[in-house]
Amino acid sequence: MTSRRYTRLGALALALALLIATATSQAQQASITPPEKFFGFQMGADRKLANWDTLLEYYRLLDKSSDKMQLVELGKSSEGRPYVAIFISSPTNLAKLDHFKQINARLADPRGLSEAEGRQLAAEGKAVIIQSFALHSNEVAASQAAAEFVYDSITRTEPEAQQMLDNVISIIMPSINPDGTQMIADWYMKHAGTPHEAANLPWLYQKYAGHDNNRDGFALNLVESQHLGRLMYREWLPQAYVDHHQMGSNNARLYIPPYAEPIRPDGDPLVWREMAWWGAHMGNHLEAAGKTGVIGSAIYSGWGHMGFHWITPFHNIAGMLTESASARLATPMYVHPDQLRGGPRGLPEYNVQVTMPSLWNGGWGGVRDIVEQQKIAAWATVDLAARNRETVLWNMYLKGTRQTERGANGPVKAYVIGADQHDPLTAKKFVNMLLNSGVEVHQAQAPFVADGRAYGPGSFVVTMAQPKQGLVRWMLGRTFYPDNTYTRDREGNPIRPYDMSTDTFGEFMGVRSDPVGERITTDLVKLTAHVPLVGTVAADAGGGHRLSATLNDSYRAVNLLLDRGATVHRVARAVDGATAGDFIVTGASSAVLTDVAKQTGVDFTTASGVPQGAYQIRKPRIALFQRYNGGNMDEGWTRLMFEQFNVPFTTIRDADLKGGNLESKFDVVVLPNDSIDAMTGDRPAGAQGPPPVNTTPPEFQSGFGAEGVKVLDAFVRKGGTLLTFGQAGDLPIQRFGLPLRNVVANLPSKEFWSPGSTLRVRYDTSNPIAFGMPSEGLALLMAGGQVYEITSMDRGQDVDIFATYVDRDILQSGWLLGEQVIAKKAAAVTVRHGDGKVVLIGFRPQHRDQTHGTFKLVFNALLNGPPASAATTTTNQR
Ligand SMILES: [Zn+2]
Repeated sequence: MTSRRYTRLGALALALALLIATATSQAQQASITPPEKFFGFQMGADRKLANWDTLLEYYRLLDKSSDKMQLVELGKSSEGRPYVAIFISSPTNLAKLDHFKQINARLADPRGLSEAEGRQLAAEGKAVIIQSFALHSNEVAASQAAAEFVYDSITRTEPEAQQMLDNVISIIMPSINPDGTQMIADWYMKHAGTPHEAANLPWLYQKYAGHDNNRDGFALNLVESQHLGRLMYREWLPQAYVDHHQMGSNNARLYIPPYAEPIRPDGDPLVWREMAWWGAHMGNHLEAAGKTGVIGSAIYSGWGHMGFHWITPFHNIAGMLTESASARLATPMYVHPDQLRGGPRGLPEYNVQVTMPSLWNGGWGGVRDIVEQQKIAAWATVDLAARNRETVLWNMYLKGTRQTERGANGPVKAYVIGADQHDPLTAKKFVNMLLNSGVEVHQAQAPFVADGRAYGPGSFVVTMAQPKQGLVRWMLGRTFYPDNTYTRDREGNPIRPYDMSTDTFGEFMGVRSDPVGERITTDLVKLTAHVPLVGTVAADAGGGHRLSATLNDSYRAVNLLLDRGATVHRVARAVDGATAGDFIVTGASSAVLTDVAKQTGVDFTTASGVPQGAYQIRKPRIALFQRYNGGNMDEGWTRLMFEQFNVPFTTIRDADLKGGNLESKFDVVVLPNDSIDAMTGDRPAGAQGPPPVNTTPPEFQSGFGAEGVKVLDAFVRKGGTLLTFGQAGDLPIQRFGLPLRNVVANLPSKEFWSPGSTLRVRYDTSNPIAFGMPSEGLALLMAGGQVYEITSMDRGQDVDIFATYVDRDILQSGWLLGEQVIAKKAAAVTVRHGDGKVVLIGFRPQHRDQTHGTFKLVFNALLNGPPASAATTTTNQR
């Protein structure tokens, strides 16, 4: 009896408590400001964009008003804006975030966990989903959609919404490029209603990377990527990650997962099934809501670049994206039915098919349409996880366990990054990059032998018996892009890979890693922190100190030393234990040397004075050319690399060029990869029809024209150095009349094809531009890259070739057709022109600030070489 009474009382109390809770939550919801009220317009309204400052203010307000979200600042953006993540879940879950984070991490790396323990954790844990918005800032809808999505997530009260709060920790990145979200909104709103409405932003919408900001999911060069990388790869390891984007406007309205063919192998099969599962759930919600023109398994192949959504499957995370058809920034756009076409990969014509069962028949499209698509897709993503919480968590256990087993039993047991590297400091940086991605790396304490090869102490071992073995394989192993009917069209022409045909970072960085087929038994210590890069300073025997030219960081050290008044000479020919290119430093205090060694990691060894033939290095005066018209990503990445290596430089634009007299201000002008037309503003040769209307405000219209070309030509003739990357070589070749021809220009793709491949090159290390390089190395050749042949019988003596493609088996990784076209041809050259020279590097020596293996070519080209007479002597001796 008593017990029954208590029970009845208890039930009453519970009902009362529920009533109070419901009332509290309703009161709270009533006090939560909807976006429309806060911003004064509906998210995605025509010709309206909220900027980052206002959006952040709104999120802070929501954070204050709701106990279902937590706004966390992860750090600052490149330009100092708060970079935030929003955690949404039930108040109970939010109070125990650390606990759930630990469960999640344990399931993601289930080594040593029994099946029963795994089941128990899956039963207890919460599904974790990360969705990011507004990475590409000119795809304007996502930053606006995120505001409504966050609001909906914390205010909707139907059982489905409650289940999401109870079962999922939904992490929303409301803008993963806050700087760009601010820039684009301000730019657009400034020009809305003027003739310049919807003109493109003239400069990069991410300070260094622009649109390339999603090509940084492994290198993590940008601080924004570092924040997201830490959150996703090392802290939370979500079950799914979705990045919301926009695409072109003339085929499907919305792309949803899964990806199209081809895919990269070596991920866990479950992860590919999960992406299809999530895509089907999104598609179901979208069709139910009456959205048409939604397509999956098309357009975006599963073999993409190493951006976040494409690299995450190899972290065992279902990494996906959505892509909505764009309007013109926030201006609506009309698409005539006649303009609708098939698309690349999996949409041969614009018609219904299994993967796009309903057609959109044209008409007006605006940002609001995209906001709605993204909200439905984002909601469905969390909903699937909420309905299948335990399954997706258990899958995490399965993926981690099976990938580890595959790695343990596969033909390659580990990759060894030997201590004996051409540039050991860069090898350590590579290891630190692996650690940043949550890859497990060990270091050997003693010498050992593996597969018959001897390795010294300090060598790094990356075992394949770990959950992220798929990632290890793509970063360290040779890669061959598939050549089959998925990758060729009906005429047999190769179809361009979505991005590059390889992303082998070890190769990019010039770091040797060996696949080893046997289990390594030597004593290994697991790295738990970054490998320190701390240099030493040897005693000065009166002859100063030597820095090895093989280290990228020696160049950084030289830049720092020149800034601090040291005298630096360069060894022209091997002598007295110094190699050609080594730096001899004199006149620096030991305090300065110690400081520079600490900053850069280089070792200052004892030198016996400045050897004969050595020449003094002056602090270079460098101009880096920047254009408008959306900016040039290659310029931005070059700028970032310069900053990382303390290269002194000045940015110059059209007006500086046209002003002339460059030689009085600069020793070197750098033209990043770009077409002649983009630089000069000329209409492309062969362009037909009336020129397109340029809505850009006149002050931001770009192009230095024939006038600028003349100035550059005069600059070189008067003794300057012009350095060109990739396609930019066309400018001096065609307009200065250099005695060169690009042998791969205009070749049909069936005859020659190298869409971002690493190719084998021989470097002439006696040439000052190749000082410090290995005699054999790799070069990253991309579409639009150049390979040279001397055309003039009169000017052969003006050309020095310092990088040459090998004669056969040129391909290291990627996809190469027609190797005979470039066999034994020049990959990079110097051409004397008047009193100066043009250095043309036909490949991409500093691609996305990732190809550390060829950075030295750039650094060398920026420094002064030996005096002219010495150079002539060197040339004759060869
Ligand atoms: Zn995008």
